[in-house]
Amino acid sequence: MTNAPHPFDALMDITARPKAVFIRGAGSYLWDDTRKRYLDFVQGWAVNCLGHSPPAVAEALAAQAKRLLTPSPAFYNAPSLKLAKALVDHSCFDQVFFANSGAEANEGAIKLARKYGAVHKNGAFEIITFEGGFHGRTLATMSASGKKVFEPLFEPKVAGFGKARLNDLASVEALINDHTIAVMLEPIQGEAGVWPATDQFLKGLRELTKEHGLLLIVDEIQTGMGRTGRLFHHEHAGIEPDIMTLGKGIGGGVPLAALLATERASCFEHGDQGGTFNGNPLMCAAGLAVFEQVNRHEFLKAVTDTGLFLESELQRLSARHGLGEVRGRGLLLALDLKLPIAGAIVAQAFEAGVLLNSPQPDTLRFMPALNVTRQQIGDMVDCLDAILTKAGAARRVA
Ligand SMILES: *Cc1c(COP(=O)(O)O)cnc(C)c1O
Repeated sequence: MTNAPHPFDALMDITARPKAVFIRGAGSYLWDDTRKRYLDFVQGWAVNCLGHSPPAVAEALAAQAKRLLTPSPAFYNAPSLKLAKALVDHSCFDQVFFANSGAEANEGAIKLARKYGAVHKNGAFEIITFEGGFHGRTLATMSASGKKVFEPLFEPKVAGFGKARLNDLASVEALINDHTIAVMLEPIQGEAGVWPATDQFLKGLRELTKEHGLLLIVDEIQTGMGRTGRLFHHEHAGIEPDIMTLGKGIGGGVPLAALLATERASCFEHGDQGGTFNGNPLMCAAGLAVFEQVNRHEFLKAVTDTGLFLESELQRLSARHGLGEVRGRGLLLALDLKLPIAGAIVAQAFEAGVLLNSPQPDTLRFMPALNVTRQQIGDMVDCLDAILTKAGAARRVA
């Protein structure tokens, strides 16, 4: 190249990104390098459950950074012991393996299920997953995902993932054979456009998997850590899965994920699983700070109440503009636009200083900080209302 390369060019071009550089965040607001402020309903993809740079997390990170970054995954460290204890004390699970990303936690869940099949079920290894599901971007987790656009990519896929249909128990039952070891799902399919599994379906899956001696794996990377008003989403259905994965919100903005298993399912032997940075004290200190804030009755109650408020505001918008349904639970909600205009709306909202997400061309997804205020929800809804009014007027003229 003869011209000086633009600084953007040094990064691999893996997705379309607006040409703003973000330099600061606080709570529900982000600022770019022109000092423009944005109201953020994406929050790092449902990651910043306490908003941007929450003081409790920043302080925990600073204190831990000065004390100990990492001793080695071959030694114990205090923050990972404390966080593991907190997670097992407040769930139906008995043991935790920490990971650095959701995909890595899911990869671990897949390995654990295959190990369980090797030990307890004559080498059974097939895992039933779901059409539309998303479990990450490693080869195995892309294979476990049911995203149409993944189908032609990186062949050959990892074998052993039959796809059932969400909320269709018969479609799961039809796939069970002697090689089946587990059923794995997101309680709400986030990337597919916020499609919830019903509580009834989750209960049915728990019964079906018990009947056939299969493990039930819930991927709560997007729904866990208070996102839907309970610490973990599967609590809504009153079920106890065998394996759960957490990511996104568990670190409050830093790379932390977890694989949890019941005592019976937790069957890794030495050499089966590991990783250099897994369970490092710095990330676990952040995780502990998040856990202490989120795991309080008043906090989770407020998520439910704020979620109902956002839901009713979106329903009001939908009725006013003739749009479709509002889906989801707590502060993971989607608005069906009935038209493929979500991308254009996200772009206009960005210009207006509001960050929104469109997981599908006809769907907007809302995943604000769990401590977002009603005032901030009102501001976002006013912005969206104005954009939809303009879009409606444009359609009437055309
Ligand atoms: C985001 C997500 C993942 C992948 O997590 P990464 O940290 O991006 O690897 C997996 N499953 C679900 C349900 C997710 O929302």
